[in-house]
Amino acid sequence: MTKKLPKILLTTYYIEPGGWYEYFSHNKPSRFQMVYHVKHSHALSCIKQNIPGIEILQFPTWEEYEKKLSQGWDIVGFSFYSAQTQRVARMAKAARDAGAKELWGGNYGITTPGALGLFDKVFPGYAEYDIADYLGVKIDRLRHPPIIDTWYIRPLPFRVQRVGQMQSQRGCPMKCTFCQTPRWAPRSTPIPLESVDETLRYFKEHGVDWVGIHDESFGLLEDHSREVVKLLKKYRLFWTTQTRVETATKFLDEWCDAYLMGFGVGIENVDPQTLKDWHKNLSPQALLDLADEVHRKNRYIFGYYILGNANATYESTIAEIEAVTKYDIDYIWMTILTPFPDTPLWEEIDNKYGIFEKDWDKFDTKHLTWNHPHIKPGQMEKLLDFACESVVSTKRLSKFIWRIYKSYSKHLGSYAKGLALISSFPYKSYRHYEKEPYFFPPLSGQKDLKNGSPGPKEDL
Ligand code: SF4
Repeated sequence: MTKKLPKILLTTYYIEPGGWYEYFSHNKPSRFQMVYHVKHSHALSCIKQNIPGIEILQFPTWEEYEKKLSQGWDIVGFSFYSAQTQRVARMAKAARDAGAKELWGGNYGITTPGALGLFDKVFPGYAEYDIADYLGVKIDRLRHPPIIDTWYIRPLPFRVQRVGQMQSQRGCPMKCTFCQTPRWAPRSTPIPLESVDETLRYFKEHGVDWVGIHDESFGLLEDHSREVVKLLKKYRLFWTTQTRVETATKFLDEWCDAYLMGFGVGIENVDPQTLKDWHKNLSPQALLDLADEVHRKNRYIFGYYILGNANATYESTIAEIEAVTKYDIDYIWMTILTPFPDTPLWEEIDNKYGIFEKDWDKFDTKHLTWNHPHIKPGQMEKLLDFACESVVSTKRLSKFIWRIYKSYSKHLGSYAKGLALISSFPYKSYRHYEKEPYFFPPLSGQKDLKNGSPGPKEDL
C-alpha cells in the first residue's frame, strides 16, 4: 500500500539577488572579503535528504519565489530566524494568495511574536522526524546531505576553495540564558556515524579538503565525537568547529592529532559576574590558557563576544572592549546583547526593562532592541563600531592567515607540502564544482522516493 504525499514546498526567507555570506566583514566592511554564495540551508537540506518527496527552495530571490509559487502547492513551509520575520510574513501572504491550503513554520523564527498566527502548523526543533510522522513517512536512518560551499575572495571573480559543511550532533543541554538552543533542542543527539562516514567520504571524493562542523557544541557527546574525529582522520580532512572551552581543553591533543585547524568558542564577556548571570560556566583565564595552548600547537581560535549587559555603562563598555582587544584570539565576532524569543534572557529583560523594538529586522545582534538602563540605542551602535574597529586589525588577520598555513604545513610535514596543498584548492574548486546541490540517492527500501524529484505526485 503506498501513500500519496501532498505537494509540499519548503523554503527559506528570500534574499536580494546575488546574496553572499561574508565571513570577515561581519565586523566591518573590508575591501577584500572571504565569501560564499548563500545557497544552502542546513535545515531544509536535511529534510530533503531524509524525505525526498518534499521540494525545497533555498534562498530564492522574491521573483524566484513567486515563480515557484505559481506552480501550485498544497503546503508551503518557511524556515527562518527572528530577523527575517517580516520577509516571511510577506511570503506567507503570497503563498495564501497563491492558494496554498496549509502553511508551516520552522526554525527559531517561529517563536518570534511577529510570527504568531502566520502558520497552520509549526515544527519546533530539528524537524525531520516530526514532519515524517505527520506525513506518515518512515525515516530508516537519519542521513546528512553533502553540503559543499565554494569560497571566493571578493572582488576577485575566481573560486578559491571548496568547504564541506556538516553537523555531527545537534542540540545542547547547557543553560546559557541568551541562547535559543537549550529549549529548542535540549539534548545533544548524534547524527548516525554511518551517515557521518557517508558524508565525509563524499567530501573527500569530491575535492573537499576542509570541513566546517557546525554543531552547537562539538564534543559534548564524547564517545560519538571521538568516532567522528577518527573518521576525519581516516579521510585526511582538515576541519574546524564550534565548541566549549572545557571540551576543547580536554580533547585538544586528540583533535590536533586528527587534522584540526582551529575552532570557535563563546567568549561572551570579559566580566566573570556577567558570565555567571548568563549561566555561562566559563572562566576568562581558562579561555586565555586554552588560546595559548592552541597557538603553541599552531592552530587558531576564534570567538563570539556580546556587548551591552544590563550593568554596563558607556564608559565600562569601552574598558571592556579594550580588555577583549588584548586577548590573543585570532578573530572575534562582535555583537550587541539581543534577547531572543523563548529564552530565559528574553523573559528577564522583558520583565525588568522592556523590549521596545517591533521591527524584527533589528533582531540581528547589531541593534539595541530593549530599554538598556544605562546605554541608549545610538550609543550602543557607536560602541559596536568602536569594538569592531578595535578587534579587526591587519596584524591580527595576518597572524590568523599565517596560522592556517602553518597548521596545514605541520600536519603535512613541511611548508612546501602545505603550499602545494593550498595551491591545489582553486583547481579542485573548478574540477568538482556542482551547479545544483547534490543529495544522496535513497536507501534501498526507499527506492520509490526519487532523489531530487519534487515529489508532488509521488507515491510513497
Ligand atoms: S551558547 Fe553554546 S553552550 Fe551555551 S547553551 Fe547555547 S549552544 Fe549550548
